[in-house]
Amino acid sequence: MAFTYKQKCARCKKNYVLVTWRTNYPLCYDCQKKEMVGEIKDAAMKKLLNIPEEFYKENSFLRSIKINCIKFGKLSEKQVEAFKKTVKKMKESNKGNDETPAKD
Ligand SMILES: [Zn+2]
Repeated sequence: MAFTYKQKCARCKKNYVLVTWRTNYPLCYDCQKKEMVGEIKDAAMKKLLNIPEEFYKENSFLRSIKINCIKFGKLSEKQVEAFKKTVKKMKESNKGNDETPAKD
């Protein structure tokens, strides 16, 4: 996992965004919120992107994937994999260590 650090949002210059070295244009949740609204027609994508809104607030990568999906209607296999991995990690870290991850 890449190191993350906080940087001010490139658009509003008000909120901090958690970024990695790969982020060249950090945008906060508030600024991206509008772009994250849209219809996703693909059922599998819809299911994939149906995660707690908190995750989108916390993670700019997840936001960018959702926006991509809304814009282009689909995602590459690599994007789907990375998305799943990130969500899984977040679920695990949110739960703490004393709980076994739910299987579904
Ligand atoms: Zn912003």
